[in-house]
Amino acid sequence: MDDLKPNDLSAVVEADRAHIWHHLLPHKALETTDPRIIVEGRGMKVWDQHGKEHLDAVSGGVWTVNVGYGREEIADAVRDQLVKMNYFAQTAGSIPGSMFAEKLISKMPGLSRVFYANSGSEANEKAFKMIRQISARKHGGKKHKILYRERDYHGTTIACLSAGGQQERNAHYGPFTPGFVEVPHCLEYRRHEQGLEHLSGAEYGRAAADAIEEVILREGPDTVGALCLEPITAGGGVIVPPEGYWERVQEIVEKYDLLLHIDEVVCGVGRTGTWFGYQHYGVKPDFVTMAKGVASGYAAISCLVTTEAVFEQFKDDPTDKLHYFRDVSTFGGCTAGPAAALVNMEIIEREGLLENCQEMGARMLRNLGQLMEKHEVIGDVRGKGLFLGAELVSDRDAKTPVEEAHVQAVLADCMKQGVIIGASNRSIPGRNNTLCFSPALIAKPDDIDAITEAVDGALGRVFGH
Ligand code: PMP
Repeated sequence: MDDLKPNDLSAVVEADRAHIWHHLLPHKALETTDPRIIVEGRGMKVWDQHGKEHLDAVSGGVWTVNVGYGREEIADAVRDQLVKMNYFAQTAGSIPGSMFAEKLISKMPGLSRVFYANSGSEANEKAFKMIRQISARKHGGKKHKILYRERDYHGTTIACLSAGGQQERNAHYGPFTPGFVEVPHCLEYRRHEQGLEHLSGAEYGRAAADAIEEVILREGPDTVGALCLEPITAGGGVIVPPEGYWERVQEIVEKYDLLLHIDEVVCGVGRTGTWFGYQHYGVKPDFVTMAKGVASGYAAISCLVTTEAVFEQFKDDPTDKLHYFRDVSTFGGCTAGPAAALVNMEIIEREGLLENCQEMGARMLRNLGQLMEKHEVIGDVRGKGLFLGAELVSDRDAKTPVEEAHVQAVLADCMKQGVIIGASNRSIPGRNNTLCFSPALIAKPDDIDAITEAVDGALGRVFGH
C-alpha cells in the first residue's frame, strides 16, 4: 500500500477510523458518523475535512489556543530554535529556557523558579512530590496530606486523579494514592446542596472556605501539608469562587502552615484577563502549575513555578543527597516549548490581549445574561475574562440539571451553525449541564455575538422557546 498523502482526506479519515483512539470520546458514536479531522486553522476559525468553516469558541477544545491559530511568528521561532538546538536534558540550561523563565517570572511577583515539564498533569505531579519531600524533611513525613476541592481537576495520572474532585472521572481507576483529602466546593449557585442557601455573596464565600478549616481540624492540622486549588474551577463546571473566599483561604493557609499549590493549567497565561487567575484574589502561592495556554498549543510545555523559599529547601545538602529534587522530565528539555512560550507571551503583550480578554469577557457575560432572561433553561451564568459557563436546568427553583442528551443536542445544533462550543463540564449531580465558552483572547465583538447568537438559536430549537 502507498503511503498516505496528507491531501487525500478520505484516506486520512479511513486511517483515523482504523487506528486512532480519540480522547474523551465514546467510539460507538463513530460507527454512524465520520470522525472530524481538523485540517486548518486561522485566527479563531478552523476548517474540517469537508471544508466547513467553524468559529472555535473553545480554543482547540480544551482551553488551549489562547493566541489563536496560524501564528507564523511562533512557528518560525520554534523552527529556528529546533534547527539550532532542539534538545538537551534540563540538567543543562538552554537559551529559550532562560529567556522564557525570566519573562514569566516578571509576571509573577513573589515567585522565582521554573521547573519545565510537558503536561499539566506532570507539572502537578512534580508539585505533589515536592510537597511530600518537604513534609519528609521538615516534619518526618507526618504533615503529608494534600487537600483538594470537590469539582476541581488536576490531571489524568493516578496521583492527579487521587487529587481530583470529579467522581464521574474517577470511577474505575481506583485504588487511588493515599494522602489526598477532599474539601467541599464553593459554587454559590449550588450552595443549597451544602445546606447554606441562607447565605450569599461574601457570607457564603467565607463559609465555603471555613469548610476547608473543618476538614483540617478533622484530619489533624499536624497531618495536613498543602492545599491544591484551581483559582477558578474549569472542567468541574466553571466555578468562580464567591467574594471573600480566597481571603479566608489565605488566612487558613497561614494559620495551619500549609503550602498553597495553585493549578493554573486552564486559567494561566491570560485566560481570565490577568496573567494568572490567582492574581484576581491577592493570594500568595508557594507553587503554581500551568500548561495549556503557556504556548497556546504550538508546542508541548508545562511549568511548575515556585518561590525561592521552596527552592532553598531542595538545595543539595552534602550530608544527605536525598535533599535535592531527584526528578527529571525528559521532554522538559525540548527547546520548542520555551521558544514558543516566549513568543506567545510577547504576542499577548504587544496585542493587548489581556485587556481585550477583559472587554470581550464582559461582553460575553452580558450577552449570556440576556440569553438567561429569554431562556428559562439557563439557571446561572458565570465566568471571568474569556472563561465562561452557562448552567442549564429544567426547573429554575429546584435547579435540576437538564438531561445530558439535550445538552448534546445544543452542541450539535451549534456545530451545524458553524460554532464549536463545549460542555465537558458537569454540575454537582454529575451531568454535563454546563455549556462552556473559552474563545481565543483575540476574539472581536462580532465573534462574541456570533457565539451567543448560535447558542440562542440552539436553545430555542432544543428547548422549544
Ligand atoms: N489541571 C487542570 C485544571 C486541567 O483542566 C487539566 C486538563 N484539562 C489538567 C490539570 C491536566 O493537564 P494535561 O491534560 O495537560 O495533563
